[in-house]
Amino acid sequence: MAVDPLIELRNVNKYYGELHVLRDIDLTVGRGEVVVVIGPSGSGKSTLCRTINRLETIESGTITLDGRPLPAEGKALARLRAEVGMVFQSFNLFAHKTVLQNVSLAQVKVRRRGQAEADRRSRQLLDRVGLLDQADKYPAQLSGGQQQRVAIARALAMEPKAMLFDEPTSALDPEMINEVLEVMRQLARDGMTMVVVTHEMGFARASANRVVFMADGRIVEDRSPDEFFTDPRSDRARDFLSKIL
Ligand code: ADP
Ligand code: MG
Repeated sequence: MAVDPLIELRNVNKYYGELHVLRDIDLTVGRGEVVVVIGPSGSGKSTLCRTINRLETIESGTITLDGRPLPAEGKALARLRAEVGMVFQSFNLFAHKTVLQNVSLAQVKVRRRGQAEADRRSRQLLDRVGLLDQADKYPAQLSGGQQQRVAIARALAMEPKAMLFDEPTSALDPEMINEVLEVMRQLARDGMTMVVVTHEMGFARASANRVVFMADGRIVEDRSPDEFFTDPRSDRARDFLSKIL
């Protein structure tokens, strides 16, 4: 694929105390690309996501978004967090706010939209994730799959340049996984740049441009899903796939 890099990590290293959790990470995510990150528990997948929108600092290396280094603090950092939407395993909605308020809040506070404009956009996005009829409910009144779709709508409301998903379906009952994956598949088709940590290999096969396999803080393989699933090169990847497929 012709690479128009949106996210670039160069020689990134991160430690938690003595633990060298990201080792010499080089990763380029092109505009419109969908990169699925897989690997054993503890291999550094979540940390990788968190460094990309600077929820974690790094000890060495560089990370750029759209050609610019990640800002360290202040308003520029707040803007970065809006530009790189993040969806976690736990939905992290505000429990005491309605679905509509959840999606509108940061639009008003960070994007400085008027309330009416924010609510209008929120309704459009709720419609897009199939939840317009739930706008006035509270998160606890929704299923896990519905809550996660609200979390996705909330991130999209900031008009992000990229979306990071860290195991977005891992906390869901099986029958709700597909409704969330369908929203993600649609986003991918619409050209959103996405980094997705997931164990859903069906999603990886259908929607990923590349699969990145991590082990012990390193990127061990970075290939097309076809190549990776049919012919994993490393013992670590073969071993991992034999356990999950
Ligand atoms: P994964 O998402 O692939 O399961 P993580 O990025 O969560 O891996 O964690 C990578 C390693 O870093 C693990 O050994 C984990 O225990 C450790 N770790 C994660 N977060 C912290 C933290 N805040 N402080 C110390 N160690 C951490
Ligand atoms: Mg994780």
